[in-house]
Amino acid sequence: MPQDKETVERLSDLISSFMCHASGHLPDDVTKRLNEMREVETEGFARQIYDVMDENMKLADSLKRPSCQDTGLPQFFARVGAGFPYQNDLEASLVEAVKKATVRAPLRHNAVEVFDEYNTGNNIGHHIPWIDWELVPDSDELELYFYMAGGGCSLPGMAKVLMPLEGYDGIAKAVFDQMTSYGVNACPPCLVGIGIAGSAEVAAKLSKKALLRPVGSHNENPKAAQMETLIEEGLNSIGLGPGGLGGKLSCMGVNIEQASRHPATLAMGLSTACWAHRRAGIRIKPDFSYDFFTHKGASL
Ligand code: SF4
Repeated sequence: MPQDKETVERLSDLISSFMCHASGHLPDDVTKRLNEMREVETEGFARQIYDVMDENMKLADSLKRPSCQDTGLPQFFARVGAGFPYQNDLEASLVEAVKKATVRAPLRHNAVEVFDEYNTGNNIGHHIPWIDWELVPDSDELELYFYMAGGGCSLPGMAKVLMPLEGYDGIAKAVFDQMTSYGVNACPPCLVGIGIAGSAEVAAKLSKKALLRPVGSHNENPKAAQMETLIEEGLNSIGLGPGGLGGKLSCMGVNIEQASRHPATLAMGLSTACWAHRRAGIRIKPDFSYDFFTHKGASL
């Protein structure tokens, strides 16, 4: 079925405005958590680093510019209602939105073609924007998350399959090994996403989806929630501090998402988000009205 040009134009305009806003404004939950973390710091440079972050965000807002030079690789997580009327136009709209936001925001050109090793110059490439699709029954809305996957905050990412005997301790050990080796690259304080599943690719994907969950939320399973708290407490004792320059707290939170595993495997994935966690979520209705639920009060 051919795409409807008018719909693609309208949807991509709205989504590119949403992306531009996300590039220069942190979601409400992240701002709140950074403010709380600032208050805990009493020694060294830590409080000053938070003040610099705050000033940075104010300048991004007043100058209408992205809040970090690395505007990441564009990733979308689309929860599409089975009754959403623009399904046929959605992928084209997301690609068009990236092209528009790259010019309007502006977004740094970050899509480098693998093997041929050239920068495409517009953030469009092979499987980029990355789009994760979910079909939602009994809904006529689109719930869309946009995530700017920066280089530094993607560096600690990993996935591996453990022997079940290594247990949940083995998962925690893998997280701490990785965060104490590469965590400083991810411009702390970090939000840590952990996926647990039966195979590496599912665990990796769930670890990224965990970063979409609000900071301060907890897994519904009490044991998983306890693991989130224990790992957060542990990561907050390693002393990385804001910007990796030392401090009492290094971790905004730990979010775990899980899928049932195979009896013989215990796979884990790790994704990290930096202090500039540019994750945005919007619900778009069939009449193009929207709820920008991660950034309350923002109008596009
Ligand atoms: S880790 Fe985050 S804040 Fe640091 S350079 Fe990358 S995108 Fe920017």
